[in-house]
Amino acid sequence: MIQNNIIDLRSDTVTKPSKEMREVIASAPVGDDQFGEDPTINLLQEKIAGMLGKEAALWMATGTMANQVALRTLTNPGDDVIVSRESHAVWHETGAAAANSGVQFTEIGSNGIFSVDDFLSSIKPAGHIILPPTTLVQIENTHNRSGGIVFPSDEAAKICAAAKKINISAYLDGARLWNAAVAENKTVKELAEPFDLVSVAFSKGLGAPGGSMLAGNKEIINKALRYRRMSGGAMRQVGLFAAACIYAVDNNFKRLEQDHINAGIIAGRLAESDRVVIDAKSVKTNIIVFSLTEDAPDAPFVVERAKEKGVLIFAFGSKTIRAVTHLDVTEEMCKKAADILLNIIGAEYS
Ligand SMILES: *Cc1c(COP(=O)(O)O)cnc(C)c1O
Repeated sequence: MIQNNIIDLRSDTVTKPSKEMREVIASAPVGDDQFGEDPTINLLQEKIAGMLGKEAALWMATGTMANQVALRTLTNPGDDVIVSRESHAVWHETGAAAANSGVQFTEIGSNGIFSVDDFLSSIKPAGHIILPPTTLVQIENTHNRSGGIVFPSDEAAKICAAAKKINISAYLDGARLWNAAVAENKTVKELAEPFDLVSVAFSKGLGAPGGSMLAGNKEIINKALRYRRMSGGAMRQVGLFAAACIYAVDNNFKRLEQDHINAGIIAGRLAESDRVVIDAKSVKTNIIVFSLTEDAPDAPFVVERAKEKGVLIFAFGSKTIRAVTHLDVTEEMCKKAADILLNIIGAEYS
């Protein structure tokens, strides 16, 4: 639903349920999920477990809850968790990992990715009298703060295989795994295969009003069930959400391709400005992160001016901006937004 001609590129979470999605929500059969009696959530859990090639899947209210429950499930307090630099778990969860699971993070690699060698040289072994044991490696695919970067699947497989050999669990923060799969022309199952536990979100590019899921073997998912309840995340007639999520997977997954094309158009246009630093070719999914040169206006200034012109974007830092394409912005709107941004960035200002 596009309102007031505003082009909202702040996030792919701003999408509103379409008329059709609202209809499936309205007619969804539901029950109390704490009795296992909600047929629609059961259907979604089976569907997602199947798509991800895992034994079981479990509803989570948000992606942050999925990440937090995953950490509780796969670590013990005092453990070390290896993650990519600037991962969601470190930057965007208000310190929850330290508060809830008592773990510390070691951030490695660059640009959202790391190699198996980076991983192996960062591990702290178990049983050492001084070092905190590394018990989990976490990969974020696609990587949000690095501009929707797709984690190379060969390297992910090598990292998970190396981790398994030394009893380190592997978790995939796949909030935008759908985008990675479309960009790589792979199935989500292929991308999820090497990991013990995987999360996916329905509230990002797929356009559902909320919800995420964890998928793994039955033993891990049973543990996660307890920590979900502990987090206050055990819901009741959650089939209303599940109906929207089933609709989202069936109708809005393959079309992510268009979001990626639109992001490429914006990135390509922005790259024309010598006040913008961006590697347009690296934009393969729906997130565009770009920097402004010294002589360009600051990010908050650009964000404010863009808002006056009806384009909403997000300042990631004093000179860094993020824009995200999604199903509520058309190719035409993205072209228009790029022109407006180029005008603001290129103009004289004081
Ligand atoms: C958005 C996001 C999350 C968190 O999802 P919420 O539903 O907003 O809590 C986790 N990981 C990544 C990579 C994300 O982009």
